[in-house]
Amino acid sequence: MEGEYIVDLEGLKKLAKDLARELKGNEVIFLIGDLGAGKTTFTRFLVEALKPKGEVNVTSPTFAVMNVYPTERGEVYHADLYRVKNFDFTDFEGSGILVIEWADYLKDLKPDIVVEFEHLDENRRRVRIRRTH
Ligand code: ADP
Ligand code: MG
Repeated sequence: MEGEYIVDLEGLKKLAKDLARELKGNEVIFLIGDLGAGKTTFTRFLVEALKPKGEVNVTSPTFAVMNVYPTERGEVYHADLYRVKNFDFTDFEGSGILVIEWADYLKDLKPDIVVEFEHLDENRRRVRIRRTH
């Protein structure tokens, strides 16, 4: 699963599915990349792959800071630090899968998995996935 990929939307969906299969349910995942690079879209595919309970609509949590999606594999906490820059995740660590956009702003929290997105053209992104330990 670790590695570098060039993907269209379908390819991104498959990456999210493959990553979902590897998750235990308590990981901290940092999503790094510019606006429009695909961080929220990736999160939507990831939540879909984890089988959300009931109807969910994964949107950008830019204004809410964090959204919570209950899934068959536990809670997914989806945060976006673009506006707030920092946030105390202590209460959530280990109690679900933490997916954090603009996580490069964070100082205290260490990720288990980092996913970097780079805009190549309208439909293609370069995606790098790595584990930190
Ligand atoms: P971010 O959260 O990084 O700001 P979004 O996921 O909100 O980015 O937006 C990415 C936009 O680019 C979406 O409208 C998505 O449909 C589009 N897009 C087109 N091709 C891709 C791709 N290969 N991967 C991710 N997003 C893509
Ligand atoms: Mg986003």
